[in-house]
Amino acid sequence: MKFLVHTYGCQMNVRDSEAVEALMLAAGHEKAACEDDAEIVIVNSCTVRQKAEEKAVGKAGNLIAAKKITGMMGCAVKRLGEGIFAKLPKLDFAVGPRALGMIPKIVADGRFPRLELGDDMMSRALAAHVEGGFQAFVTILVGCDNRCSYCIVPDVRGHEYSRPAREIVAEVRALAARGVAEVCLLGQSVLRYGARNAAWDDADAPSPGGYTEAFPRLLEALASIPGLRRIRFTSAHPKGCTDELFRACREFPQVCRHMHLPVQSGSDRILADMGRRYTRAEYLAAVSRLREFDPDFAITTDVIVGYPGETEEDFEATRSLMEEAGFDNSFVFKYSPRPGTRSAAREDDVPTAEKERRDQVLLADQQSRGLRRNERLVGSVREVLAEGPSKRNKSRWSGRDSGNRIVVWDVAQGDCPPPGSPVKVRITEAHAQILVGERVE
Ligand code: SAH
Ligand code: SF4
Repeated sequence: MKFLVHTYGCQMNVRDSEAVEALMLAAGHEKAACEDDAEIVIVNSCTVRQKAEEKAVGKAGNLIAAKKITGMMGCAVKRLGEGIFAKLPKLDFAVGPRALGMIPKIVADGRFPRLELGDDMMSRALAAHVEGGFQAFVTILVGCDNRCSYCIVPDVRGHEYSRPAREIVAEVRALAARGVAEVCLLGQSVLRYGARNAAWDDADAPSPGGYTEAFPRLLEALASIPGLRRIRFTSAHPKGCTDELFRACREFPQVCRHMHLPVQSGSDRILADMGRRYTRAEYLAAVSRLREFDPDFAITTDVIVGYPGETEEDFEATRSLMEEAGFDNSFVFKYSPRPGTRSAAREDDVPTAEKERRDQVLLADQQSRGLRRNERLVGSVREVLAEGPSKRNKSRWSGRDSGNRIVVWDVAQGDCPPPGSPVKVRITEAHAQILVGERVE
C-alpha cells in the first residue's frame, strides 16, 4: 500500500517516523509521493503542549474525512489512551511511542480499530533507517526519569532506558558505510546515557583512552568509525558537563562544538519548583566552562514563559540569564498545563496575553543577541558540510558549521558541492539566524 507518515513535534518524533517508514518499506509498502496519493497516513503526534496535541488530532480528523486509512502514533496517543477514539471515532489505529515497531503488523492484520500502548521497543525498530541522506538521527536513550514539574514526557515515553553501546556503534557503522557523514545522538537527556541501566557490559573492550563515563566513552567509540565526520547530540543538562566530556570534545574533532542546553528559567525559585536540579549559578558555570573551552562554542536553549507563579521579577531573571549566557539561539515556549503533571495542580495564573508579551520580549532579545554572536564570526573561515541549494536564494548553497549555524555562499555553475561534502567558507556577513560567506580553498 502507498503510505505516508506526517510528523509533529521534536527530533525524537522525526526519528521515530523515519523508523516506521523504514519498517513499512521493509514490509513491502511504498512511500506515497504526496498525501493525495497515499492510501494510508500515519500521524506522529506530540503532546508536550496542549496546542501541539490539538494540531495532530485535527490533522488525523481531516485525513479520516478524506477517507484515508488513518493511524496515529506518538506521545498524544499514549496520553489519551482509549480516549483518542472518543475524539476520533473513525480512527483506524493508534500506537504509543514505545510500540511503534508493531505498525506493519497492525496494518497487515487490518483489524481496526486497534490500540497498542505497550512497551515493545524491539531493537529492530530502534535501528531501522531509510536509505539516503548524509545526516541521520540515532536514538541512544529512550524515555525520561527526570520528572520536571511541568513535563508530560516521562508519562508518555516511559522510563529512561539506554540502548546498549554495542548496538549503537553497529548502527552508526552501518550508516557511515552507506554514506552518512553526520549523526545526531538523541535522548531527552543524553548526558545521562548509561546512568539508569548499564550501556557497556563486561564483554565490551575497555576504553582505549581510559574513559570511565558511558557517554564520553560512546563518543570515543563512534569517533573511530571511518567516514563519520560529525557527531552531534541533544539534549544536554549542566550536570553532564564533566571533565571527561570536555576531554572527549578536545580529543575527537568529530564531536560538534554545539550544545543544546535547555535552561527553562533564570529564576532560582522557579528552577527549584520545576525540579530542574541546578541553580542559575550552576547553569551559568557550565556555560562559562564551554565558552572557556571554545569561545565559539554554540549554546542553544529552551525557555518556558508564564510558568505558574512566574512574576515579573522571575521573568527578568530569565532575561538577564539569557543575556549572560549569550545564547546563539533559543526556543521559547508558553507554559501549557499538562494533566497529571505536578505543576498542573497549580493555577495557570499568568494571563495568555502576558505569556505572549514575555515570549515576544525574549524573541526580540534573541534576534539582537544572535546577530551580535554571529558578528564575531565575520572574517573567520568555517568548515561547513554542504546540504544543498539555499531555500531563499537558489543561486546560493547552504550548509551548517560545527556549531549548527546555517552558512550560505554563492555558487558558480558546475561548482555545487554534493551534500555532505566539506567546504571552507569565509564569513562576510552576519544575520541573527544565518551567516553569509564565500568559498575559499
Ligand atoms: N528533555 C528535554 C526537553 C524535552 S521537551 C530537556 O529537558 O532538555 C522540549 C521543551 O518543551 C522543553 O525543553 C520545554 O522548554 C518545553 N516544554 C515541556 N513541557 C512544557 C509545558 N508543559 N509547557 C510549555 N513548554 C513545555
Ligand atoms: Fe525529562 Fe524534564 Fe526533559 Fe521533560 S523537560 S523530558 S521531564 S528532562
